[in-house]
Amino acid sequence: MLGTLWLALFAVSASAQVPGMAPPAVAQTSGQAGDTSALAREATGWLGELIRINTTNPPGNEEAAAKYIAGILQKEGIKAELLPLQAGRSALVARLTSSAFPDPSKALLLVAHMDVVGVERAKWTVDPFGAVAKDGYIYGRGAVDDKGMLAANLAGAGDASIRMLIAKYWDKIAAKYSINEGGNVFVKNGKVQYVAVQASEKVAVNVTVIAKGTSGHASIPLKDNAVTHLAAAVTKIGNYTAPVHFTTIVRRYFEGIAPVLQDDEIAKWIRSLDTSDRGEHAARVISDTNPMWNAMLRDTISPTVLTAGVRANVIPSEARATLNVRLLPGNTITALLAELNKLVNDPQVKLEVQPDGGLAAPDSSLESEFYAAIVKASAEEFGGVPVLPFQSTWATDSAQLRLHNVQAYGLVPFPLTDDDIKRMHGDDERISAAAFAKGVKLMVRLANEFAVSH
Ligand SMILES: [Zn+2]
Repeated sequence: MLGTLWLALFAVSASAQVPGMAPPAVAQTSGQAGDTSALAREATGWLGELIRINTTNPPGNEEAAAKYIAGILQKEGIKAELLPLQAGRSALVARLTSSAFPDPSKALLLVAHMDVVGVERAKWTVDPFGAVAKDGYIYGRGAVDDKGMLAANLAGAGDASIRMLIAKYWDKIAAKYSINEGGNVFVKNGKVQYVAVQASEKVAVNVTVIAKGTSGHASIPLKDNAVTHLAAAVTKIGNYTAPVHFTTIVRRYFEGIAPVLQDDEIAKWIRSLDTSDRGEHAARVISDTNPMWNAMLRDTISPTVLTAGVRANVIPSEARATLNVRLLPGNTITALLAELNKLVNDPQVKLEVQPDGGLAAPDSSLESEFYAAIVKASAEEFGGVPVLPFQSTWATDSAQLRLHNVQAYGLVPFPLTDDDIKRMHGDDERISAAAFAKGVKLMVRLANEFAVSH
């Protein structure tokens, strides 16, 4: 009935990622998706329970969530395994297999993380861990990111991390394909506009800017003041615009999005992006129109942290800034730093790459059978809208999977508005019950179709 399918579900702690899958759906496969609205109701219950289990990272504390998920799987007759990564942090993996020996080349891995980002309690209008239902929405930290996905897959994950999980337990999660967060179903003016399936991502690297000068009493100003030199360097870097570089996926994305836009003028400029005569001007217009488009077209730098000084009346000998750099896959930090050093041109200022940088991974294939299945199912579930390949400006655990030859695709299956997306790491995070049900239906369908065809 299920061919030779096996599925792996796992949930990692805190910043790690939890892959999962839709076990009840697959378990009752054979026909089509069955009663998905009953399943969506059940998944809504799981989502509420998961929101109520506070997994704010740090410290994460995902164990309770992992146990809860293991219990749900157990009821479906699916054995889940807790894989310890660090003290207090584990991944949860469950596999659904139809053959005695799992065959990773026929496996789909559903991934989600169990930890959530912190909350500023005073700014929430409801209890962030209450799973409050109001006006057709379910409120709570993690409602979208990523407990929604956790419940929809019955899946979800994070950084104790995917690297460690792969290093220690690759045989438990090996799969040819995976679905994780990373891509979105974009809603505008109440309608799904397009579906973006993440097949690649930018690479995050942090750089420290260090300015040194002479320390002294603030009553006697010095020309080599480290704070002044740092501020000048950060201003120059903050105003720098890296050159446009088209990756295959970004080119495909822009080709696909032009017809979707209501704005003919913008659509015209998008079509001119890749031309030699008007390309440069087009990139300027497009970048000014949408900050995400700007970030898709080039390496970007956001200064994020400043540190200097201990007393109001003392000139410090050193001042530091952190730059959060996002490189296009294929571009190197060395090349970018050479540009920035030229730009800053100050012997008192040094740039140092922090050691925690991400790694560039190969794109996931846009020609695979499974990508075609995602495109077809998404288009059908969302009224024929375009389904476009997407290179996310944000980083996900899928990069690590891609480095291990997994064809990893990113799709948070819930239709989300810009407002929903902004709330994700902000206040009053919420998901509409209708959007959640829609996403569950899509995940169930994808898991079922995969099961039947493999
Ligand atoms: Zn997330």
